Amino acid sequence: NSLSDRLTETFRNLKRKGALSETDVNKTVRDIRMALLDADVALPVVKQFTGQVRDRALGAEVSKALNPGQQVVKIVNEELVSILGGQTRRLNLAKNPPTVIMLAGLQGSGKTTLAGKLGFWLKEQGHTPLLVAADLQRPNAVTQLEVVGERAGVPVFAPERGNVFGHDAALESGEGTRSFGDPIDVAVDGVAHARDKNHDVVIIDTAGRLAVDVDLMRQAHDIRMETNADEVLFVIDAMIGQAAVETAKAFADGVGITGTVLTKLDGDARGGAALSVATVTGEPILFASTGEGVKDFETFHPDRMAGRILD
Ligand code: GDP
Repeated sequence: NSLSDRLTETFRNLKRKGALSETDVNKTVRDIRMALLDADVALPVVKQFTGQVRDRALGAEVSKALNPGQQVVKIVNEELVSILGGQTRRLNLAKNPPTVIMLAGLQGSGKTTLAGKLGFWLKEQGHTPLLVAADLQRPNAVTQLEVVGERAGVPVFAPERGNVFGHDAALESGEGTRSFGDPIDVAVDGVAHARDKNHDVVIIDTAGRLAVDVDLMRQAHDIRMETNADEVLFVIDAMIGQAAVETAKAFADGVGITGTVLTKLDGDARGGAALSVATVTGEPILFASTGEGVKDFETFHPDRMAGRILD
């Protein structure tokens, strides 16, 4: 029983009535609340959203052109579009290239895959992107980005092999966790390299963790500051459900983000995460990832997502 089914049913019932009474609105709002909770939208977000819809529906003049059901659908749709950012938000390109785009998010959210997609997309538009491998947490991550870059036909700036694989020796010498090479140095060097070689956009892949943690946040925050990033894109798996709120909040507060990319929208995620993340961060969603291939990527359209949620 999907969110769309629930809403459709709600509105179908309402259509039989003649006017927009308080009883109608309250009943509808209750149904919308249940449906949104079913779709894994977080409770505070549901409350805020249904509150807005309720206020508008009660205050709305009864239109002659629309029946009450259509009127509430219209209000819900407009509220959804507005929370999801209104218009499509374009990438913020720096006046003085290179534009620095940093990707941040939990491990497995799809950052590395996204780096390739974004690089490919930018290249198609005539840009000369560079990918920077600043995820030095997992030994595999650098190689993975190199594979992704090759597939996308976009060059990759990676730390020296000696640094990357010097982990054990450095640990033994007591240097601790920074011994993989310093991701902040790699990010800064990558931006300098881009400037030297006339790459006009730099995409920095950063380390994720399985759960939010303080070190991860501090590292991402430092990379943002040291590279003076123009965009910090929070990457989140649309299938994550209720946890989206906590994760998004942690990244917005701990790192500072300028927008979100929703991944794995090819799955059966119902848009709950989109609504939750946009609400708690107050930042727009810029892109959607819709598969594992380099072309499975699109700009995010708030109206289309609202349609997907309502349809
Ligand atoms: P990272 O740890 O954040 O860098 O995440 P990865 O880029 O390694 O992605 C984790 C897994 O999710 C990989 O198996 C990807 O192929 C897969 N993946 C990434 N984006 C998408 C997407 O939009 N749809 C689907 N179905 N899978 C994706």
